[in-house]
This record gives sequence, C-alpha cells and structure tokens, in this order.
Amino acid sequence: MLTNLNQQSILDFDKGDPTMYEAYWKSIGDDFKITISASEALSYFANPKSFCWFMLPKLEQEIRNLHNVVGNAVVEGRHIVVGNGSSQLIQAALYALAEPLDPSSPISVVSAAPFYSCYPQIADYLRSGLFEWGGDAHAYVDHDDQPYIEMVTSPNNPDGELRGPVVNKANGMLIHDLAYYWPQYTAITKPADHDIMLFTASKCTGHAGSRIGWAIVKDANVAKQMVKFLEISTIGVSKEAQLRALSILEMISTNSCPTNFFEFGQSVMAERWMKLREALQGTDVLQVPDFPPRHCNFKRNYKECNPAYAWMKAQEGINLEGVMKEESIRVRGGGTFGCPSNYARLSILGKDNDFDEFLKRFPSVFKRLAH
Ligand code: PMP
Repeated sequence: MLTNLNQQSILDFDKGDPTMYEAYWKSIGDDFKITISASEALSYFANPKSFCWFMLPKLEQEIRNLHNVVGNAVVEGRHIVVGNGSSQLIQAALYALAEPLDPSSPISVVSAAPFYSCYPQIADYLRSGLFEWGGDAHAYVDHDDQPYIEMVTSPNNPDGELRGPVVNKANGMLIHDLAYYWPQYTAITKPADHDIMLFTASKCTGHAGSRIGWAIVKDANVAKQMVKFLEISTIGVSKEAQLRALSILEMISTNSCPTNFFEFGQSVMAERWMKLREALQGTDVLQVPDFPPRHCNFKRNYKECNPAYAWMKAQEGINLEGVMKEESIRVRGGGTFGCPSNYARLSILGKDNDFDEFLKRFPSVFKRLAH
C-alpha cells in the first residue's frame, strides 16, 4: 500500500474543479481578454438605481441573453441577483426565506440523499438561529406544520439525476440549484421556472476562479432580502470578476468563436463517459448509473446525458473512497452525500491527462474490489 503511495502521483478526483474547459479557452487565445485600468470600477456601486445596485447592467443583460439562447430558464419578468459564486447565493437564499419568518427555532434545510455535500456545511457553519441542516429530505418528519426549506439540485450533484422536490408539503420553501442544467451535462428539456433558481459560471463556462454565480428570483421581496445578505456579507461582488464573466457569457451566447462552447463541452463529456463505461465493461465490482437519451431543445435532437460526476457504487460493506485511496486516487466518499461508504463520487471535470491516468489505474482498483 505504502509502495503505491510512493510510486504513484496522487490523482485528485474529489473536487469538482472544472479545469476540463481550459483547452477550449486556450484555443480562443487573447480574443476575449479584458483589461481594466487603475481608474475603472472604483465604486462599490454599479447601478445605484437598481435593487441589485452592485450588479453591472451589462452582466444582467448577458445572463438574460444566455438563458434565452440556451432555453434552460425563464428570465422574463424575473429578478437577477449576482453573487460570489452560487455558494454565497445559497446562503443568501436561506437567509432571505428564513429571516422574514422570524422563527423561534431554526428552520430545517433538507435535501434528498445523495445530496450536494456542501449543503450541510453551508447550513450549519455559522450556527444560525434562522436555519439549520435537517438532513435527507426523504427522512424529513413534519413537526406541527413547521416551515422547512428544501434544496432541489437538478441535475443532481453527485448522481446526475433530474430531480423535483420530495417533501411536497404546503409549508415548504424551495431553492432550485441548477448549477449543472447546461447542455454539456444534460438535455435541456424545458425552460426551468421556479421561485429561486441558482446558476454559476463555475459549472457553465468553467470560470470557477471568477466566483460569479447568479440567482433568478420570482418574488421581488425575496430578491431584495438576498441583496441585503450580500450587502452585509461582502458589500456586493467584484466588478473585475463581473466584467470578465460578462465578456465570456457574451461570447458564448453570440457564438463568436470557431467552435461552439457547448458543443465542445458536450464532446469532451461524452468522450470521458464513453471511456469510463468501456473501462467498466465486463466487471460487476463497480457500477455507475445509466442515463437514457432525452430530447434536448437546445440541440434540437435526442442526446445522451453526461453528468459532471460519476456516482460509483461498489458492493455493500466496501469503503470505496478508501479502496481508491490505496491506488492514490482521491474521490469523495458516500458519507458526505448522506449515503453508505460503498458509494463515492468521481469528478469528470478535471484535465484530460489526469482522466487518462485514472483509467490506467482502474484495473488495479477492480482487483482490489474483487478481493
Ligand atoms: N451547487 C452545486 C450543486 C455545486 O456542485 C456547486 C459547486 N461544486 C455549487 C453549488 C457552488 O458553486 P460556486 O460557488 O463555485 O458557484
């Protein structure tokens, strides 16, 4: 075991760091480079007349354009709030829903297992009096019609499923986390139209480092409360990051580059899933879910779904994360997603070389799993 660790470099497939798009952005070269002089973007304000006064109007316009081009969300008549990644917007949305209710005890935040592993941390790290992590939505017990908040992630991180809410009680409030509802990962079956929808440049274009996310919100008061949260926590969002994001979003929606970005993303994801499935053929020690082709309105055709993560399942009783670690492969174990340890999440979003190296080590993983 130790010999392996010494000889093999550690492959990190734990984090969903979207470096797979780097090759695309390198091919674009300097065409969409932005430069900002020392005299620009000095003010806290971007648009003092708007309720979201720190959002550049052009970014709002590009967000709306992109959703209209892709057809993955209704933006007409909706309010847009920009945030420091969708991570901050999750917190802002929890605050906006819970604060006006002035709850006597924290409101439960639930999500169906396997749930995105950061929700429990986000809900609990400040030990807020407004909300707290309530666990797997399937196991949620309604106490005296108390309000609750359900996080609905679709396609889901980690298992790629298209999802709806599971608790379905009248006193529930929903936050739809649609970070992966883009054509490279799934079929765009209809424009999503929910009360609060969260998106992020991290998973859409791969610019996780810019920390730009956005919320599409139906209710003006909820949107205003979210802005209040951002005001208190970070006094808005970096203008440099917004400028970079808007130029990238504009480029994608106007398709002003040699290859369409989503076509590129789709082909990389499809190739990786194909290689993964090939490697798994003939073995029953490890399984990944199948996704039936669906009609994609963006592609105007039936297409395979190629989620951002492979949700792997080994035999009951096996600690899959531990077995992978013995081959110097880091994956995220089932426990962090509210599932047993024979499950683990493999990120498909890393670099080509790492993915190929991972596939070379796969047979050794199978051997360990078979013993
Ligand atoms: N929601 C989901 C489902 C995610 O997978 C992620 C990133 N892993 C986020 C939110 C947060 O993304 P970011 O803060 O980079 O926008």
